[in-house]
Amino acid sequence: MKNNCFERAEILCVGTELLIGDIVNTNAAYLSRRLAALGIGVYRQGVVGDNPARLQADVRAALSRSDLVIMSGGLGPTYDDLTKETVAALFGRKMQMHAPSLSRIESYFAATGRVMTENNKKQAMMPEGAVVFPNDYGTAPALALENEGGQVVVMLPGPPRELEPLFCEQVEPYLKKRCEAILVSRNLHIVGMGESAVEAALPRDIRDSQNPTVAPYCQTGEVRLRVTARDIDEAHASALCDLMVERLMALPIAEFVYGIDVPAPEYALVAELQRQGKTIATAESCTGGLIVKKLTDVAGCSDAVAGGAVTYQTHEKTRLLGVDAALIAQNGVVSAPVAEAMARGALAAFAVDVAIATTGYAGPGGGTENEPVGTVFVAVADRDGVSSRRLALGAFRDRAYIREVSSVRAICDALAFLRKNAKNS
Ligand code: ATP
Ligand code: MG
Repeated sequence: MKNNCFERAEILCVGTELLIGDIVNTNAAYLSRRLAALGIGVYRQGVVGDNPARLQADVRAALSRSDLVIMSGGLGPTYDDLTKETVAALFGRKMQMHAPSLSRIESYFAATGRVMTENNKKQAMMPEGAVVFPNDYGTAPALALENEGGQVVVMLPGPPRELEPLFCEQVEPYLKKRCEAILVSRNLHIVGMGESAVEAALPRDIRDSQNPTVAPYCQTGEVRLRVTARDIDEAHASALCDLMVERLMALPIAEFVYGIDVPAPEYALVAELQRQGKTIATAESCTGGLIVKKLTDVAGCSDAVAGGAVTYQTHEKTRLLGVDAALIAQNGVVSAPVAEAMARGALAAFAVDVAIATTGYAGPGGGTENEPVGTVFVAVADRDGVSSRRLALGAFRDRAYIREVSSVRAICDALAFLRKNAKNS
């Protein structure tokens, strides 16, 4: 079962009788069992006597470790029943009379024909802000108190015949509801930076942030930086995410973010082309049509994607794209000038606004000393110019990886090219 809210719970039972072995701590066993069934991890069980200083020290220690503390005992009417008061003091809450509890206690005494003493009223005193669980099995209501940090202390009366039904009828639904916190995520899609580089680029407070959390995930050719916020209120969780995304997009990594919550780079590229009212074509060698395949995976792309030329053999680069044979002879077919000439050739051949070209060694054979397997040149051209770059994807990578990653990089380069030109114009 998924537990969205409590990371770790502990149980703290109060009672000198437990310490001296007068009674067996069945409450701890019961509570551990029930919490396990709820999917909440119990990390510790403790017992403390009816001693105010040690009680306070133990509750404080429990709160330093856990975000859920379930306590039993010490809710009775006598002076040594101090659980509520101790927790209230630690949370900085005042004790106040809880009228519905007082009238319940009064009617409980009336119904059982017992005489209510003045100190029974103490059982109706509650810390301000407490969630009170009325007790149909005795006089002391159970309660839960939450602090600003989202830590919760649940206090239950000691007698098992009261604690058990109170827990399962009222505390469990309360915990479940608390755990229904909604998770909202945003994904920043990053290409051109490795997972560890992305992580290292995050300031410490972002890396350590608990709500929202920020975590990188590695995928083929890209890193996803996932921002996840948790709150009962979805709008609030969304707002927490948006704020964090804003902070992240102010960092240098923003340059490598091709999109937020987009399925793949080609979706962002087609959307950008459509936004700018532009068309694109590809001239592919080592990617063998993978780029145009990806672009045409996007439904409704036909207004932006003109087509692609797969020019695998050298002479096809000349025949279909008009790449000068002398240029190829001079630079080698896997080179920046050839990639750029291919992109310009596609621009003319398809009469489009933007063209992408790739030429490289996908392996496992081939490559040269200077340009080993994994070397791919990617070029992007428009009518105003062309830019290219050399990717070194690693000779140890397999063919499918090299082709996949170079197509992803080429698509992201085209996107960056379009965005930059739109900004400059
Ligand atoms: P009361 O109003 O009865 O004083 P309380 O909430 O103050 O309730 P305690 O005084 O700590 O609780 O315990 C009351 C009785 O409940 C104990 O005498 C014992 O019989 C039982 N009890 C308390 N704690 C446990 C426990 N951890 N496991 C089993 N039984 C317990
Ligand atoms: Mg007691």
